[in-house]
Amino acid sequence: MIDTSILEFAKAKKYMPGGVNSPVRSFKGINGDPLFISRAKGSKLYDVDNNEYIDFCLSWGVHILGHAPQSVLKAVEDALWNGTSFGMPTPGETELAKLISEIVPSIEQVRLVNSGTEAVMSAVRLARAFTGKKKIIKFDGGYHGHVDHLLVSAGSGLATLGISSTPGVPEEFVQQTISLPFNDELQVFEAFAKYKDEIAAIIVEPVPANMGVVLPKEGFLQFLRNITKQYNSLLIFDEVITGFRPKIGGAQSYFGITPDITTLGKIIGGGFPIGAYGANKEIMRLIAPEGNVYQAGTLSGNPIAVTAGIASLKRLETPLFYETLNHKSRDFIFWLKEITKNKGIVINSFQSMFTIFFNENEIHNFEDVKKSDLARFELFFKKSVNKGLLFSPSQFEANFISAAHLPEDLNKTLDIVFQIVKTF
Ligand SMILES: *Cc1c(COP(=O)(O)O)cnc(C)c1O
Repeated sequence: MIDTSILEFAKAKKYMPGGVNSPVRSFKGINGDPLFISRAKGSKLYDVDNNEYIDFCLSWGVHILGHAPQSVLKAVEDALWNGTSFGMPTPGETELAKLISEIVPSIEQVRLVNSGTEAVMSAVRLARAFTGKKKIIKFDGGYHGHVDHLLVSAGSGLATLGISSTPGVPEEFVQQTISLPFNDELQVFEAFAKYKDEIAAIIVEPVPANMGVVLPKEGFLQFLRNITKQYNSLLIFDEVITGFRPKIGGAQSYFGITPDITTLGKIIGGGFPIGAYGANKEIMRLIAPEGNVYQAGTLSGNPIAVTAGIASLKRLETPLFYETLNHKSRDFIFWLKEITKNKGIVINSFQSMFTIFFNENEIHNFEDVKKSDLARFELFFKKSVNKGLLFSPSQFEANFISAAHLPEDLNKTLDIVFQIVKTF
């Protein structure tokens, strides 16, 4: 029963558009009613009707430690009593910036902001200022927050709701954006041949997660690195999801490819609103007040968010954290693939993130993703929710495994998925 959720949704719709503060939360993508949440702990989420779910959405990838981790809560609790925002610098900001700079290969200096969107928006501004060029290449199905000029063939909520571009963004803005199929070297090559000196940057999720998980083909990221160098353009890795997901230094560390600018978010705030962008000093010194690329924020470097971020990253740095998480994920995904074999299902995964595609064929880009059977996804999603599993409520999103997911959670999940797909 989700009676209270339904009641809450009706109330919410009176005061907020669609009843939500972010579109995919509405469950519109699966023609369902959203769950309203009361609390969460570890791998479990509880709705206002007190149903329990094993959570694989994890606030869209934020909770790599699981919900409400003790060390983070304790640090935040202590910090709260010292005040929640000062609009003045604090030592904690330096500590988080130092941690990020030491861990992420491409980052020597970092600026903290309040969301991934803000990080991307600022990173693109910086790339344009640094190169003196205008055009940006992105990839179809890549989502980089709701930045005006990047809402072209964007994945995530837009794909979920079938919105290809959005009113409110003048065509002139979008003219500077070139959206190309992911994993297609030839088209990137042709774009550079055509626009030569006009391309400021390529922005890419190194492992796209906002059209569901899609893996870069062997050599594709290296190709992007090479061609941007060749044309004096910058390579921006949007690691808002992948930042601290596959290993401590993110996807760039995993693949051994160093972008010029990196954007971060989600995990680095330990459950609080945060974003960050960073690069080497030569690029970062353009940012005001050192340079004249303006970017600011009343709540940027918020002491509570920063405290949660530091406490989280410290946990991630503990020995064997990623080995354990990735090992557990590998086993789970191995069995998930076994039990969904010959069911018209493709599982794409990257360490502790995965998407269950209802699709007959391999998936390498957004075109492939779009051939997925949304009706079957909807059926699968609804049946899993009824059985206490909460996957991300859209075919175009990733699912995540946290350090708090216990073997019994994962075994139970496999059992339930097996029972559901048996009937498919
Ligand atoms: C979530 C996300 C964003 C936007 O971050 P918000 O904090 O939601 O603004 C940007 N890029 C990627 C890759 C994301 O996954």
